[in-house]
Amino acid sequence: MRKFSADYIFPVSSAPLQDAVLITDDAGVVLAIEPRNQHDPAGLAHYPGALVPGFVNTHCHLELSHMQGKVHTGTGLIPFITGVVTQRNAAPEIIGQAVEDAHRYMYDNGIVAVGDISNTTDTFVVKSDSPLRFYTFVELFDFLQDAGAQKAWDDWKKVYDSLEPPHGSRKAFVPHAPYSVSAALFEKIRHFNADTETTVSIHNQETPPENQLFLNKTGAFLDFYSGFGISLEHFTPAGTSSIHYALQHLNPRQRNLFVHNTLTTRDDLRTALAWSDRTFWASCPNANLYIENRLPDYAAFLETGARVTLGTDSLTSNWQLSILEEMKTIARYQSYVPFETLLRWATLHGAQALGFDDTLGSFEAGKQPGVVWLEGFAGPEQALSAEVQARRLL
Ligand SMILES: [Zn+2]
Repeated sequence: MRKFSADYIFPVSSAPLQDAVLITDDAGVVLAIEPRNQHDPAGLAHYPGALVPGFVNTHCHLELSHMQGKVHTGTGLIPFITGVVTQRNAAPEIIGQAVEDAHRYMYDNGIVAVGDISNTTDTFVVKSDSPLRFYTFVELFDFLQDAGAQKAWDDWKKVYDSLEPPHGSRKAFVPHAPYSVSAALFEKIRHFNADTETTVSIHNQETPPENQLFLNKTGAFLDFYSGFGISLEHFTPAGTSSIHYALQHLNPRQRNLFVHNTLTTRDDLRTALAWSDRTFWASCPNANLYIENRLPDYAAFLETGARVTLGTDSLTSNWQLSILEEMKTIARYQSYVPFETLLRWATLHGAQALGFDDTLGSFEAGKQPGVVWLEGFAGPEQALSAEVQARRLL
């Protein structure tokens, strides 16, 4: 049995407690939270600051870890994607070492589960033997070409088949983004993911040209496609923002995880929330600053009751893979979002989005959510300062 005492304990699923003790078994399964004065101080390990459940990173591309610092900040999504596509090749040892290092960093910084995009098999060795729970999203795209759907499917089916997720981890086919997936490919994905307990992630409304393409077939995606010699002749804009196209082709009975949502409006959110009560909204603020130098309007998510989760995106578009650093960024630029709300996004909502809330996301008896010490945490009413550090205890 282990006893952790702290100034604050945040179960997340219930109100925070001061001067309390978290009791777990030796494996880290939560047994109880009790007042500190019921325990002999000699038998307690005390952590000044706060204890929180392990963090859930709902959006990562672990396989892009070797490109840290290679693509410029502040250029916008389309030059960013071009940079990734043209620079991602590297020797397998370099990719493998970077994946291992990034995986270790996430573990040390209190991350217990990851929703991870895979276009390749480069992360599968690490995933097969990881203490983290991974939801691997094998991501498909065909550049809006119905005729390319079958080839995209056949190519990525090989990637999908070569991953044997260990107990507690999962895998699914997912569409990359509205601007890159044809109706034919969406149909294949939807048909394959018949199990409604699947999570389907999709990049959504990350850059202004994405909506422009679907609203009136204007904007920088036209040049992007013609630059790669891909014709959009057949493409007819629906006259609505890009998320409408995604909603048309996704399954509302599944958990759908919309990622980035930098340009998502209240109207878009209301439409999606009316379409399904199983939507989740992954926000990656540091990646949004890195790529587009802008942030989503978090007030829109709070007002509509959308369930937000947090992600780091990849080391190609971030300075580190730390959910605490994502929380700090939101606290710095949109400080009206309360700490407890940020923490719920970082833990329980993420676990629910990945279907991992059976064991993760909150301190509840029977769960094994990991224990993270926020060293330097001054209280839920104080601004989350840059000095606060996440230390993994379990
Ligand atoms: Zn991404």
